[in-house]
Amino acid sequence: MTASPIRLGISRCLLGDEVRFDGGHKKDRFLTDILGRYVEWVPVCPEVEAGLGTPREAMRLVGDPHSPRLLTIKTGRDHTEALNHITKHRIAELKKLDLSGYVFKKSSPSCGIDQVNIYDKYGLFSQNGAGIYAKAFVEQFPLIPVEEEGRFYDPAIRENFVERVFSYRRFQDLIHNEPTSQALLRFHRIHKYLLLSHSPQHYDAMDRLIGQADRPPLKELAARYGALFMRTLAVKATVRQQVNVLHHIVGYFKTRLKTREKEEIFAMIDDYHRGLIPLLVPVELIKRHVRMFEVEELRDQVYLNPDSNELMLRICP
Ligand code: SF4
Repeated sequence: MTASPIRLGISRCLLGDEVRFDGGHKKDRFLTDILGRYVEWVPVCPEVEAGLGTPREAMRLVGDPHSPRLLTIKTGRDHTEALNHITKHRIAELKKLDLSGYVFKKSSPSCGIDQVNIYDKYGLFSQNGAGIYAKAFVEQFPLIPVEEEGRFYDPAIRENFVERVFSYRRFQDLIHNEPTSQALLRFHRIHKYLLLSHSPQHYDAMDRLIGQADRPPLKELAARYGALFMRTLAVKATVRQQVNVLHHIVGYFKTRLKTREKEEIFAMIDDYHRGLIPLLVPVELIKRHVRMFEVEELRDQVYLNPDSNELMLRICP
């Protein structure tokens, strides 16, 4: 369904490149062997690109938690300016690459998204914050889905990241084609059940935004829609909400089902509800009926027809 390749930024050490302060790497097999089959990586090591060399003295964040300095631990050398400089340069380059997501190395004073230790001037832990490069990236690209390595072993986090990346790619494709209001409306329509599975409240807000009589100019409307779209997908899709969506969808053709078929579908939804089978099982069965009954309203719903690569990633062990 996506028209362009999925391009993701990544902390370079996660791909197995020996760029860490100790000359080692932090290769992550899920990223290299599984996710890497479906995406194009854009590796960045801000510390190496800032000219700090490998190996190099270990560093940490020190000082004001809102604007900490990057200091070497033993000798106290301040590398903040070098890192700020390369960050600015790299972010300008990344703007041209149309990234659909980013995977950061956790806990790094340059690359960690949060939970990075910040110390006071006495060397005592003061609070957690973000690495210098990661913080600037998130500020510059607030819609781009980001995640930290290590969290992908939680299936729910992995699924949500994959779903947001592919959804964002579709939104980027929409925007690059200078959408008409009809195209934006269609985009909203085909994502209806996906959005409802995350948050009916957010979906209603998007509906209101798109339907208001005194709508802002299209470009501004699309930008506001995109922000809300990504915020909605970041809300955790609960099992209960998924079950509501499945019931809602079945409502379109329930009266056309034979008793046995109806029982089969509802038993399957119930099994999913109780955690006995994955969501994909009732979705596939429902999809068969949507095709058979030619339910026009559901035919092109992304919820029922995810991108095949997205699907592979979501079901991989
Ligand atoms: S965490 Fe970031 S700065 Fe550190 S080695 Fe990996 S890519 Fe380089």
